[in-house]
Amino acid sequence: MKYGFLGLGIMGSRMATRLVRAGFAVTVWNRDASKCGALVALGAKQAPTPKEVAAEADITFAMVSDPQASLELCFGAEGVLAGIGPGRGYVDMSTVDPATSRQVGEAVAAKGARFLEAPVSGTKKPAEDGTLVILAAGDKALYGQALPAFDQMGKASFYLGEVGQGTRMKLVVNLVLGAMMEVLGEALALGGKCGLPGEQVLEVLAQGAMANPMFGVKGPMILAGDTTTSFPLKHMEKDLRLTTRLGQELGQDLPVTEAVHAIFGKALAAGLGEEDIAAVVKGI
Ligand code: NAP
Repeated sequence: MKYGFLGLGIMGSRMATRLVRAGFAVTVWNRDASKCGALVALGAKQAPTPKEVAAEADITFAMVSDPQASLELCFGAEGVLAGIGPGRGYVDMSTVDPATSRQVGEAVAAKGARFLEAPVSGTKKPAEDGTLVILAAGDKALYGQALPAFDQMGKASFYLGEVGQGTRMKLVVNLVLGAMMEVLGEALALGGKCGLPGEQVLEVLAQGAMANPMFGVKGPMILAGDTTTSFPLKHMEKDLRLTTRLGQELGQDLPVTEAVHAIFGKALAAGLGEEDIAAVVKGI
């Protein structure tokens, strides 16, 4: 089984590395070709266009930033559609919206190939460790074929039904993540104004029913002013934007999500987009 991997950013580079280290034959491509070097040094092949990757690989995985990137990758002149054909599979693991996923899926199917969306829950370290949670939907046979790769990239993978359901699950999950991130920042900010040491606020939270691994990682980062990027703030703003739009489409009020989105939007406008989501506290 030959794999392709398109998009070697924070997540894609680590996910592709796991596939190469597991011994799979992997051909990589990234828009900024210089990011392919580390993978090539590990034994991956590099291709000049997504078209060539999709034409050669049995299954091509993609991990790019947003709906626009996902569409360009697929429909561009040298894109996936130009290369893919019968017997091939395309798995887009980027976080997009259901309409984008459907558009890509239908175009891939029209070429006689199979399509799966498979966004992930988990960030830089889980991508490195192969402990992501994979939220797949679309062609079930392709899901079965992709499982050996998913097993390298994730600790769990879910098959959620028709294209769109994986994306919807991802947006539902990130609604929680965004709100938790922001509210942790508020708690530490108010605690600080009260003269309560941040370490103690975190310790008390960790002993209670609201304890969670994310507070354990992001809390100390906030206190140390460390915004080393695991999950770029600009991508969380995008996820919350897509989530509020999904709520509007379905007639579901999401007042907290809308408020949290506005706060991430303010942080993005302040130039914090490339920093970690923990930088949202700077806008509070
Ligand atoms: P990232 O580091 O910003 O990388 C983005 C990737 O997308 C890069 O490879 C970039 O290429 C590529 N790209 C952007 N626009 C493109 C275009 N028009 N055509 C082709 N390639 C394009 O992002 P990331 O953190 O890896 O996240 C990737 C996806 O995973 C996003 O959808 C994000 O929401 C999702 N996600 C991220 C995390 C996380 O913690 N980081 C967790 C779960 C899900 P260049 O290198 O050339 O710019």
